[in-house]
Amino acid sequence: MSDVQHQPLWIADLARIVGERAIVLPGHEDFEKYTQDETENLRFCPQAVIRPENAIQIQQLVRLAEREHLPLVPRGGGTGLSGGALATRGGIVLSLERLNRILEIDEQNFFVTVEPGVITQTLQEAVEEKGLFYPPDPASRGSCTIGGNIAENAGGPRALKYGVTKDYVYGLKVVLSGGELATFGGKRLKDVSGYNMPQLFVGSEGTLGVVTEITLKLIALPRYRRTLLAPFDSIERAAAAVPDIMARGVLPCALEFLEQDCLKAIEAHRSMHVRFSDRAAVLLIEVDGNHETALDAEIEIIAEVLENFSAADCFIAETTAQQTEIWDLRRSAGEAVKSICAYKEEDTVVPRSRLPELVLGVHEICSRWGLRVICYGHAGDGNIHCNLLKSGLSDEKWEHELPEAISEIFRLTVSLGGTISGEHGIGHVQRRYLPIALSPAEIGVEQRLKTALDPLGIFNPGKALPD
Ligand SMILES: Cc1cc2nc3c(=O)[nH]c(=O)nc-3n(C[C@H](O)[C@H](O)[C@H](O)COP(=O)(O)OP(=O)(O)OC[C@H]3O[C@@H](n4cnc5c(N)ncnc54)[C@H](O)[C@@H]3O)c2cc1C
Repeated sequence: MSDVQHQPLWIADLARIVGERAIVLPGHEDFEKYTQDETENLRFCPQAVIRPENAIQIQQLVRLAEREHLPLVPRGGGTGLSGGALATRGGIVLSLERLNRILEIDEQNFFVTVEPGVITQTLQEAVEEKGLFYPPDPASRGSCTIGGNIAENAGGPRALKYGVTKDYVYGLKVVLSGGELATFGGKRLKDVSGYNMPQLFVGSEGTLGVVTEITLKLIALPRYRRTLLAPFDSIERAAAAVPDIMARGVLPCALEFLEQDCLKAIEAHRSMHVRFSDRAAVLLIEVDGNHETALDAEIEIIAEVLENFSAADCFIAETTAQQTEIWDLRRSAGEAVKSICAYKEEDTVVPRSRLPELVLGVHEICSRWGLRVICYGHAGDGNIHCNLLKSGLSDEKWEHELPEAISEIFRLTVSLGGTISGEHGIGHVQRRYLPIALSPAEIGVEQRLKTALDPLGIFNPGKALPD
């Protein structure tokens, strides 16, 4: 702590709750990292950052924030892509990083109970050691937290077969308004005693309360997987192959799309040759299960479909090392594209049969607005990340015309039966576009819910909903 005479009086109360060493104020060497997340080009300074170590401290902090009318912004790994963990209205950033214990892996009932600050990959590796599987795998899994995944309802490549975070959340402890600690749900597969409260908090972006403990369902770890890369000579064909693969009764655990500019960006970023970077697009397809012969049969069916789309010269990974290499490249796509120049990432999602219309439509809109666009993402879910790059555009055009181009992309997405974010959330940056996806009545219901649960408006204000 520093500069005591200029500190607001409530800082001393914070210190009494969490101890001085758990408070990070402007000027502290750690302060800067809490002013940003992974959303492009944003920086907001909170008045203080606190790193509590248990739910009791968080209950007291909520009471203090309500008394002082201070925004309280929960923060996990800070990997969010919609500015959700940023103190856009000042106040206190509440980092959950010290609540990072795996409390119980229940091997009999297939549940794991964790604190919110556990890193997703750490949880996955811990349960895999016991032959269990927690499938949701955002590409950021090495640095994002389970608390952040719940608040954003995170997805990832495996969502196609295994679903997203919401499909695994069975119990939550949440600190609510007034500092009350509620336990919703638990280690039971069936529960209709009251509203489905855990799911209300999934995807609520820290705007309804602070999640302090989580019970997640696990499944048995599949023993084998087969990974394939299919090159295409047109983006349209790659997108069109996706529903056809599914129509043949095969359910891959991942079906990812990367267009050529994305492959080239990875090549440049990692200074290495990337397979099929001379082709218009690739699909990365993975199947998993417990019977190798069944997987081989599925790969044959997929290969037949791919042939119909002139994608015959596929690469099938033969070793675990080759599979890992393919996934490392896929996971580096975001970083690679973002390293090119100023950008804005959109997270469009449509029913997968409308994917070709979405991808071609986005390219058409961007070329009309003079924007360069690079698309990649979870094609099997119809969820494509469209990265709009500033490239040679003037600052003025970028600032004034970009929102118009984005609105057009979102209107197209909604007209195809889709919506404006599949997994990155609305947060701070997408609020202005929400009326494209939701009617005034729908937004009104969410606003009333917010007011009922957070009457003093302290939980992450200015996120997820328009004012
Ligand atoms: C390279 C890269 C790849 C990515 N790939 C994917 C992907 O494949 N799929 C995907 O879905 N996302 C992806 N993301 C986005 C991001 O990682 C996810 O949104 C993730 O769930 C955020 O987790 P976090 O712990 O970093 O949360 P933060 O960014 O810290 O916070 C996100 C939101 O959660 C709230 N929050 C955090 N903890 C709590 C809590 N305990 N209680 C209440 N609210 C809380 C915050 O207030 C904020 O609104 C990617 C990001 C990057 C940088």
